[in-house]
Amino acid sequence: PYAIELRGISKAFGAVQANRNIDLRVPKGSIHGIIGENGAGKSTLMSILYGFYRPDRGEILVNGEKLTISDSQAAIRAGIGMVFQHFKLVQNFTVLENIILGAEDGALLRPSLAKARGVLRDLATEYQLNVDPDERIEELSVGHQQRVEILKALYRHADILILDEPTGVLTPAEADHLFRILEGLKAEGKTIILITHKLREIMDITDNVSVMRRGEMVASVKTAQTSPEELAELMVGRKVLLSVD
Ligand code: ADP
Ligand code: MG
Ligand code: MG
Repeated sequence: PYAIELRGISKAFGAVQANRNIDLRVPKGSIHGIIGENGAGKSTLMSILYGFYRPDRGEILVNGEKLTISDSQAAIRAGIGMVFQHFKLVQNFTVLENIILGAEDGALLRPSLAKARGVLRDLATEYQLNVDPDERIEELSVGHQQRVEILKALYRHADILILDEPTGVLTPAEADHLFRILEGLKAEGKTIILITHKLREIMDITDNVSVMRRGEMVASVKTAQTSPEELAELMVGRKVLLSVD
């Protein structure tokens, strides 16, 4: 089965059809890009996977199992972790405090702080996150704060990680670091969904790419079998040649 399979997902906001009859299949252990212009419906689709919105129609399968993702707790139980464009971290709390606070959801028993600290240290080392559980969020760079969000998802046992425009807030060096982390996660069998409008990132790191345009999924292809020019044409729906990046 696929890590994620969507069948016929539709979602409207009033008169705006944000997602129209979307099919998507994301193989386990792959990095899957979703690209599209601003307003194409990418964030709406991922918000459905995280239980922020209920689709008007369609089915969601996670690891082959049909699920109703009614809220973020259901997404976490399904092994889905989300790294948001805007971090949801309490600035004057430590990394550990932020992650433990967020983990009090019934899916996890409240562990001792010492045990949680050990687990977080191990995860941070394994995936080159370079964050210490006892640092305070306000002392961390944006890149580090994003890695705290990744750590939080991993602590909650996410094996599918969704990142929505993650490099928009990063320096080029931080973006390179993020991509090494994503490759490390993939090497451990995790599935990554990377939403971006940057063609260079799609070409550099994804195995497959799906293109959204005005609420529709207009293509899903193996990245190695496409070109940035082709993707750009699909994004805008006409024959123009956009520069890469
Ligand atoms: P993208 O992430 O590709 O930029 P979005 O999913 O954010 O696209 O938006 C798709 C369309 O849905 C846009 O026209 C946007 O204005 C609209 N939309 C998104 N969220 C809402 C909402 N909560 N209420 C009303 N309209 C929304
Ligand atoms: Mg947008
Ligand atoms: Mg968006």
